[in-house]
Amino acid sequence: MNTKALHKISYGLYIVTSKKGDKINGQVANTVFQISGDPVTIAVSINKQNLTNEFIRDSKVFGVSILAQEAPLSLIGQFGFKTGREVDKFASISYKTGNTGVPYLTDHILAYLEAEVIQEVDAGTHHIFIGKVTGAEVLKEGIPMTYAYYHQIKRGSVPKTAPNYTPEQTERKVIMEKYVCTICGYVYDPAVGDPENGIAPDTSFERLPDDWVCPVCGAGKEEFEKEA
Ligand code: FE
Repeated sequence: MNTKALHKISYGLYIVTSKKGDKINGQVANTVFQISGDPVTIAVSINKQNLTNEFIRDSKVFGVSILAQEAPLSLIGQFGFKTGREVDKFASISYKTGNTGVPYLTDHILAYLEAEVIQEVDAGTHHIFIGKVTGAEVLKEGIPMTYAYYHQIKRGSVPKTAPNYTPEQTERKVIMEKYVCTICGYVYDPAVGDPENGIAPDTSFERLPDDWVCPVCGAGKEEFEKEA
């Protein structure tokens, strides 16, 4: 069996949200899909260890914010590499709540859905929640983020900005080494820099400020290793 075959499955990228009492939480998920059109039902698969799983089981409602392709890495890091048990993930995020009371993001998403759970399937490490959609809205037109695109950005192979490479810059790109975050796998590519956080292209890892942190997971420079 070659499990690499699984890597050929394509996915989107979403923030799945829920609530418990007056608390709200959300997490990054790539497994959201429509099941049927009448009634409109969708499914999400959520790890049992995650707080969002606990919230969905408690409130029986969940929301899906559909990320736009230009969503910043820091947003995905906020919802993907932190736990709602330790931080309030929505503290610095602008959001609204739908008719079920679950939050949805208002920035960097194209659309949102919210649903009431009609069935819960125990799938070992995960629960699959099947929900009847009670609300849905398109916020703006654009290209949805895919799981593959996100990994390309994280690898530095799709620059978030499109720097105009001169031959000289290309040469420096070869000389300057990439560094990998040992926590989340983000790759710092000096040729690209970290424009979201004010680091211009052609900034070597060594020249990054001491207080620079991984734009995905927030780890410090000391957590980075030279790419092999
Ligand atoms: Fe990281």
